[in-house]
Amino acid sequence: MKLAILGGPGAGKGTQAKILCGYLEIPCVDMGQILRRAIASGTELGRQAEPYVEKGELVPDEILIQFVRDRLLEPDVSNGWLLDGYPRTAFQAEELDFLLEDLGQKLRWAIYLNVSDDVLMTRSLKRSRADDTPQIIRRRIEVFHQRTVPILEYYEPRGHLLDINGDHPPEQVSQDILDVLVRQ
Ligand code: AMP
Repeated sequence: MKLAILGGPGAGKGTQAKILCGYLEIPCVDMGQILRRAIASGTELGRQAEPYVEKGELVPDEILIQFVRDRLLEPDVSNGWLLDGYPRTAFQAEELDFLLEDLGQKLRWAIYLNVSDDVLMTRSLKRSRADDTPQIIRRRIEVFHQRTVPILEYYEPRGHLLDINGDHPPEQVSQDILDVLVRQ
């Protein structure tokens, strides 16, 4: 199964990704974590991404796509994967489809965790990452509306969008998702 999980900062993407990957026995590809690791270890990609991550801005597409390609060519992801944090713009969604076509793969579901802005803010503030200050979180929510929400219009008509109420407790959210995935 090939999946992507979408949602604002604090929507529960990481939590759901972990549950779903465990249940479906597929690897999670967490873009934010990959970027933070690259920044911490001072790689070339990390150095290029750092100024954007620091401000809560999106890292330019051309920096990310090469990384996604390399990751999806690794042997552990040949039977399926869940992308967490990619795509994040309509352009990335399109670019991902081109990449997958090239690799002879297909995305089944883009799972959208639909959560109100108030809940996004409250949940994000409870985390204690360096890039989770109120100002940065507000900016990330704004960026989410401007850049990520248009992705829904890309996936919906293609029959790939799974719109899930993410305000519910985590167990119920994963059950709602699995009900659809398993029914297929
Ligand atoms: P996350 O942990 O997924 O919230 O990501 C943390 C930060 O990494 C974001 O605020 C962005 O700066 C950057 N980032 C993660 N995924 C992407 C993406 N698909 N496109 C651009 N920037 C990204």
